[in-house]
Amino acid sequence: MPFTNHSVQEPSPLRKSNAAFIILARNSDLPGLARSVRELEDRFNHRYQYPYVFLNDEPFDEKFKKHISILTDAKVEFGQISHDHWSQPDWIDEDVAKSWREWMVLGDIIYGGSVSYRNMCRFNSGFFFHHPLVQKYRWYWRVEPDVHFHCNIDFDPFLYMEDNQKVYGFTISMYEYESTIMTLWNHVQGTYTDYQYLPRLSLEQILYSEFANLHPEYMAPNNSLEFISEDGGETYNLCHFWSNFEIADLDFWRGNIYQEFFEFLDQQGGFYYERWGDAPVHSIAAALFLNRTQLHFFDEIGYEHPPYTHCPKKGNNWAKGRCTCDPDPEANFDDSPGSCLGRWESLVNGTLV
Ligand code: GDP
Ligand code: MN
Repeated sequence: MPFTNHSVQEPSPLRKSNAAFIILARNSDLPGLARSVRELEDRFNHRYQYPYVFLNDEPFDEKFKKHISILTDAKVEFGQISHDHWSQPDWIDEDVAKSWREWMVLGDIIYGGSVSYRNMCRFNSGFFFHHPLVQKYRWYWRVEPDVHFHCNIDFDPFLYMEDNQKVYGFTISMYEYESTIMTLWNHVQGTYTDYQYLPRLSLEQILYSEFANLHPEYMAPNNSLEFISEDGGETYNLCHFWSNFEIADLDFWRGNIYQEFFEFLDQQGGFYYERWGDAPVHSIAAALFLNRTQLHFFDEIGYEHPPYTHCPKKGNNWAKGRCTCDPDPEANFDDSPGSCLGRWESLVNGTLV
């Protein structure tokens, strides 16, 4: 043969999971999203051809659909989110919600003044898994604009999850240092007691004094309470899995326990009065309602959502993956004091003190 035909595709793997990438985005996210999808294709999906589901609260425009579709041979679907899955419920008192937003803006709390961000967090907490285009899938991988996949992913993470009885997979885990749920509550108890309305309870009070007491039977026997609490459930230590990357089982969110949990939280109003993120909501549910062995840290998947990067360090993962990230402690979020990975790993190893 005078030359090699490089365009020949590697054969698709025989066994595939019933899985899809789920991507929530605005039309304006196109440039950053095109880059995320391109990297995902190059590092992983050109060999696996898992389909994509793009979701938006508005219709995707033709340019968005065209520019995304040319990036992959896999099936791509574009869907719109129904109004009731993306709007402030009518039991929220808007005057009160508004004064809270204004207060958060003054406190420089990230996205504190944004209603659309709150809609997004509530959608990702309670509704994405109910979208008609998502119904047919069991597994998903959440992807966002402007993220990076730094290493070749030479295995199928969905099949890994399936074959090892995993339910929730993550790459980055962190303490929330900024004022969110807990510090916000402290502020409110202190300075802002003259507000005409306060959320009935803070997220942690709801969890530990209410929901957990209401339903002790929902707690998994070998749960990871110690990961999210340092005093046996008295307070939340703010550790959570960073939900902009998730590989997980949709049936967990669709199940009765999580549904009831979400309903309960939604009724408290904290998605709007405060600014509860889907990351702590998902993480607390995974930590309490799943057994520890059902959660999985994907070391091999080099992942960056600016400003933080997880770069593989175990064994030969970094070289094997031909990674573009820097595994040194200064560059790797895993080694930073804001990371909860060390706590997670000691819990798993049984060395947590
Ligand atoms: P951050 O990662 O918390 O800083 O928030 P992002 O701006 O990355 O938003 C998280 C995800 O939700 C991304 O996939 C965004 O594209 C998406 N998103 C955020 N706000 C909206 C919105 O108003 N409409 C739509 N359709 N998607 C949104
Ligand atoms: Mn993001």
